[in-house]
Amino acid sequence: MTTAIPHHSAPRAAYIHVPFCAHRCGYCNFTLIAGRDDLIAAYLDALELELARLDEPRPVETLFIGGGTPTHLPPAQLARLLAIGRRWFSLADGGEFSIEANPFGFDADRVKILADYGITRLSLGAQSFDAGKLKLLERDHSPAEIARSVELARCRLSSFSLDLIFGTPGETLEAWRRDLASALELTPDHISTYGLTFERGTTFWSRLTHGQLTRLDEELERAMYAAAIDGLGAAGFEHYEVSNFARPGHRCRHNEIYWAAEEYHAAGPGAARYIAGRREVNHRSATSWLKRVLAGESPVAESETLSSEDRAREALVLGLRRMEGVDRREFAARSGFEVDALVGRELARFVELGLLYEHGGRVRLSREGLFVSDAIWPAFLRR
Ligand code: SF4
Repeated sequence: MTTAIPHHSAPRAAYIHVPFCAHRCGYCNFTLIAGRDDLIAAYLDALELELARLDEPRPVETLFIGGGTPTHLPPAQLARLLAIGRRWFSLADGGEFSIEANPFGFDADRVKILADYGITRLSLGAQSFDAGKLKLLERDHSPAEIARSVELARCRLSSFSLDLIFGTPGETLEAWRRDLASALELTPDHISTYGLTFERGTTFWSRLTHGQLTRLDEELERAMYAAAIDGLGAAGFEHYEVSNFARPGHRCRHNEIYWAAEEYHAAGPGAARYIAGRREVNHRSATSWLKRVLAGESPVAESETLSSEDRAREALVLGLRRMEGVDRREFAARSGFEVDALVGRELARFVELGLLYEHGGRVRLSREGLFVSDAIWPAFLRR
């Protein structure tokens, strides 16, 4: 038996996960199945069934379709996906409707469908403009296909973002600067930059452990991140979250809802929702999710009700990832916990180390803290 989503909860955001890609890139450990396009129709049937648990359409301000590669779906199925999303989530006037895309296979037919269904924001997985780096990352597109995708999208969609990866084995600072310059030439509204990570279970992980790939020197990786912060800042982008940069008015509103530790709907394999204080994560295996949903069973693999203290700690970490940081008074009013009561000792230590600083009642990451932020958070989450 599936459990219905309670009606009294009104998350402002919804996420739909699409688990299909043309192939799996070497570094990727997302929930997806490559080369099983025969399952797309069943996936769409299951998605409708999962969303029917809502009983009725829910109003949201942001709807994000991610993956995987949602635009890998053939045009008719892409249209069905968007229709399903819009049927179950009624987007407020002026709402943000985002979709992730990849340059490979992105064409005018798909852009027309995206525009017809009201997509307002395209997030394009460019990753690099260097053919050698794209090959190393096992991406399936060329630099020219990125530019072509952008041209197609620009004609019909109001905002687009580029994802870029830095810190690939053998990459130089100059090469990364060229990537940033090439991205800026396309005049995106938003850029996300991620340092390459080696995740267990990926081919990159096994190549690393077999000595076929080497991690980049930490200092060089740090210099690359600094080049992104400084270069994008100089080009008029606001650095508003550790990995995200936006032209004025083009922040990702959907992610801002996550970072504000608000609740959100979610559907699809591996998708995580947070509703009425409860976190649920769907089965990560697309085929298990599919079988369970089609059999009328719950898609949920794990669920937990967070204590108010755990929620407060998470909200603090999410808030500190944003450059505007956390206002102590606002935080206490929203979470019911004073920052110092939760993490006073740890906070003082990080302030002393120069990784966090306080000004006007706000706690923020310092520039130094930006480079090591992932090492700060566990101390704040631990009780
Ligand atoms: S296109 Fe994106 S989601 Fe698909 S395999 Fe590559 S990195 Fe993963």
